[in-house]
Amino acid sequence: AKEQGRNTWCFYNDAMDQANTDKFNLLQRIRAAMKSQSFALYYQPKVCLRSQQILGAEALLRWPQDDGSFINPAEVIELAERSGLILELGAWVLQQACIDCQQWRQQGFPDVRVAVNLSPLQFRDGKLQQTLLAALANSGLPATALELELTESLLIDDTQLVQNQLQRLGALGITFAIDDFGTGYSNLGYLRQFNASSLKVDKSFISSLSVSLRDEPLIKAIIQLAKGLELSTVAEGVEDDATMQRLQQWGCDAAQGYLWSKALPAPDFLQYLQQQR
Ligand code: C2E
Ligand code: CA
Ligand code: CA
Ligand code: CA
Repeated sequence: AKEQGRNTWCFYNDAMDQANTDKFNLLQRIRAAMKSQSFALYYQPKVCLRSQQILGAEALLRWPQDDGSFINPAEVIELAERSGLILELGAWVLQQACIDCQQWRQQGFPDVRVAVNLSPLQFRDGKLQQTLLAALANSGLPATALELELTESLLIDDTQLVQNQLQRLGALGITFAIDDFGTGYSNLGYLRQFNASSLKVDKSFISSLSVSLRDEPLIKAIIQLAKGLELSTVAEGVEDDATMQRLQQWGCDAAQGYLWSKALPAPDFLQYLQQQR
């Protein structure tokens, strides 16, 4: 039994070694990509469901490869978080998003806003406010044009540290969205502890609507909950017209998804704004 146990352990160990080697190689490539500025920031339109007006865009990290493909951003972010590289990468994302958004505003879309995803680690490092102020100052983007997308996990950990920072950033005029709402955690207490302006309904709920209406009560409840707390709701992952119409009927405020557009390079997003006018 011991022998077998050892063999089994060895088998897993080899598999883990391989996985670790792959991760290590990817990490080296992420470092190199940062040095050679090979990352790109793409933008997915956020649309008002009442007016169909474009409210702004969510910035999404992209790492284009020579063959035209992209490496999965979630995997890049996860590795960057585990290695600490996320601080540098996250600072670049903030800086670039502010620069691009200020460009659009100066090219005839003065009300357009940008949303940036933040890793919880960016809150722990203590330099977030400094990084944000630098990004705003360098780009000239007003703080009110910037929204930060935060995940529920951040709002549950480290409440005091996080809350203090959110308060200070909020005082600057920056707004917050709670991302992936409805996944993972069910502690709603934090919702009233800090002042977010919007709640993003996770795309897993939204995409299920095209298959069945099983999640209808859940989505409606989230929209009602948000209304009660005076938060606006944003549905992510809207891919078809029927889903959009349902969300509209249920009082969802805004949406994003392939129905309008996938994430686009900054100049293409500007073109999208011009075409939709
Ligand atoms: P997320 O913040 O929930 O972003 C939404 C994801 O849904 C994006 O995936 C987007 O491309 C995808 N999406 C948008 N519309 C549709 C649709 O209609 N259908 C479907 N099936 N998918 C849609 P993406 O770009 O692969 O990003 C994955 C995750 O990686 C993001 O999830 C976010 O958590 C993280 N991420 C991306 N960029 C950054 C970044 O700059 N910083 C941080 N910290 N995380 C980022
Ligand atoms: Ca997001
Ligand atoms: Ca999301
Ligand atoms: Ca997500």
